[in-house]
Amino acid sequence: MFAEIVLARASRGIDKLYHYSIPEELRQKIKIGQQVRVPFGFRSEIGYVAGFVEQAEVSKVKDILEITSELPLFTEQAIELVKWLADYYSSFFITALRLVMPPGTKGKEGRTKKAESRKPSAERRQEKPLSSAFSVRLSAFSLTSAQQNALNSILQAIGNGQPEKFLLYGVTGSGKTEIYLQAIAEILRRGKSAIVMVPEISLTPQLVQRFRDRFHDHAAVLHSDLTLKQRDGEWRRVASGEASVVLGTRSALFAPIKNLGLIIMDEEYETTYKNEKSPRYHARTVALKLAEMNDAIVIMGSATPSVETYYHSSEQGSSAVPAGRQELGAYIKLVLPKRIDDRPLPPVEVIDMRAELKAGNFGVLSGKLRDELEKTLANGEQAILFINRLGFFTFIICRSCGYVIECPRCSVSLVYSSHDRQIRCNRCGYSAETPKTCPRCNSASIKYFGTGTQRIEEEAAKAFPGARILRYDRDTTGKRGSHEIFFSTFAEGKADLLIGTQMVTKGLDVAKVTLVGVVSADTGLHLPDFRSAEHTFQLLTQVAGRAGRHHLPGKVIIQTYSPDHYVIETAAGHDYEAFYRREIEHRRELGYPPFSQLISVLVAGADQKKTAEISQSIGDFLGRRLTEGVLGPVMAVIPKLRGEWRYRILLKGSELEVMRNAIRETMGRIVIPRGIKAIIDVEPMSLL
Ligand code: ADP
Ligand code: ZN
Ligand code: ZN
Repeated sequence: MFAEIVLARASRGIDKLYHYSIPEELRQKIKIGQQVRVPFGFRSEIGYVAGFVEQAEVSKVKDILEITSELPLFTEQAIELVKWLADYYSSFFITALRLVMPPGTKGKEGRTKKAESRKPSAERRQEKPLSSAFSVRLSAFSLTSAQQNALNSILQAIGNGQPEKFLLYGVTGSGKTEIYLQAIAEILRRGKSAIVMVPEISLTPQLVQRFRDRFHDHAAVLHSDLTLKQRDGEWRRVASGEASVVLGTRSALFAPIKNLGLIIMDEEYETTYKNEKSPRYHARTVALKLAEMNDAIVIMGSATPSVETYYHSSEQGSSAVPAGRQELGAYIKLVLPKRIDDRPLPPVEVIDMRAELKAGNFGVLSGKLRDELEKTLANGEQAILFINRLGFFTFIICRSCGYVIECPRCSVSLVYSSHDRQIRCNRCGYSAETPKTCPRCNSASIKYFGTGTQRIEEEAAKAFPGARILRYDRDTTGKRGSHEIFFSTFAEGKADLLIGTQMVTKGLDVAKVTLVGVVSADTGLHLPDFRSAEHTFQLLTQVAGRAGRHHLPGKVIIQTYSPDHYVIETAAGHDYEAFYRREIEHRRELGYPPFSQLISVLVAGADQKKTAEISQSIGDFLGRRLTEGVLGPVMAVIPKLRGEWRYRILLKGSELEVMRNAIRETMGRIVIPRGIKAIIDVEPMSLL
């Protein structure tokens, strides 16, 4: 018997399993998941036991020196998931392995004493029986017939032990969460456990409360806004079996849960489900894999599913699955067409900002939005102004005719780079001086887009001197718990007007919010990213869903320079289906997901010339290896970030495995000099 050891140090050359022999005195003790010290070269290294094999692959095998942490830090099943994940996302094995280790142990190879002295909490506390807690309040109200039908399909799959995947497609406020809760209750009654993922937990305190009310101590909550100690505590409650419902962000997938029967993913389209550092996994794909490994049921819930997920769903669940993704299967679509109590969705009015300029209004708020704000404030109700701010970059728009300057060669929006005052195309590399006048109508009212929250706050404060304004963005938040403070200040009516970026689109369920104003719907629309239309539609739908959620009727105003754009039209009509029909055709034409799979290779470095050269060699090599589907390298949409120049190569194809192999081969051949890195992103969410 030999042990397979993965070293704790992340480095390309040593990222593999090493075989070691097990000395007599450790044979009875050694377990998968333990931390050990092993001889390596002339020194010793910390590593983890990942498995056991009968045969060693080298003849001169060395002994493990000692077990440095008795308590296993991960399970055999976790290893299986991690192996798959590291391979699928082309990451280091050890980096992926850290996902499944208890929060307190990550990257602390030196401090193993602490981990050892901890006892699993099951030994300290009496495990609570799976009591009647779950049936309490289940009959607090009777489900609507749409809810009942959807739940019945899920219960049937649970009853029959069929590991189905469901898309619960229902407008905001249609009662999706209630279905989650009841499905979980059934899973728990059968002695199984559940994972529930939400995009950003600190923005959804009301949801957390609903889970705590329903499942009490059986619910564990895991997210990054907790202290390390809190996270560790929750992790251990899951490991001991005390908590059998894990509610959290994407990392909830890696909690040491046993007997997994159900995975729920709320708003699966959200970009927060993509890990933007290594391993760059997408929680949706990992959830599907984890469910497959456990024969667990999956429920994805949303009013605006991602185009990919919607494409893979049907009432029968047997719609086309593209090549290379058969293992992930298709979804059964369950529909909740209406809000509870038939509450109407708020009417949306689209304001053409070009007309505002013609009428002499140079401000950021249209006449109509000002009027509505005034009325709302006079009635003692609350309003939200949403700014879709994208931080890093700007494109150029003509305020008279709404034209967004495009690449003459590929008709995608050109992006302005402040470092050289040029506009450039991220598809073909075209660049030009920024024009002084509009190429279409010759007007001089050409401007860089990207109005900040501060500017709007100033304008609103001037227009409504008495109003209590709360500004909510990355600058004013950031401290632990500050979301909750903002959230409750506004929810308790201590502010009249909330001005904010993306963070105000989620979670807020405030009865007195009757007006939502979208200051600049276009900001995200013209991004040179194939998902920009989808993201904008989803954002607009989400933020519109904040208005009129209770007895007071709501209203939404969308300001735009492109009132005829299909995203604006369909969002204004609350019409996801119409949006989807347009969008899927677009994707089909351009061969983007779901009609292909993508891998991005981003080459970044401080030395521009070298970075460009390396990206060119990588691109050339990939181009020879793959006959088609290699786009670039081109300078990234954000050309320079934190002092580093960025060049991107995008691989587009039907088989991830083929593209992955080409990348592996390329990386094996090309020597990447110090100071330059090549970031491989499988299933990239952002191509900026
Ligand atoms: P969603 O998750 O689709 O946004 P929720 O499950 O949060 O919807 O339901 C919206 C509101 O309606 C919540 O306050 C919830 O408690 C309530 N609700 C859900 N189902 C019912 C029902 N069958 N009858 C009455 N109220 C319900
Ligand atoms: Zn171009
Ligand atoms: Zn113009």
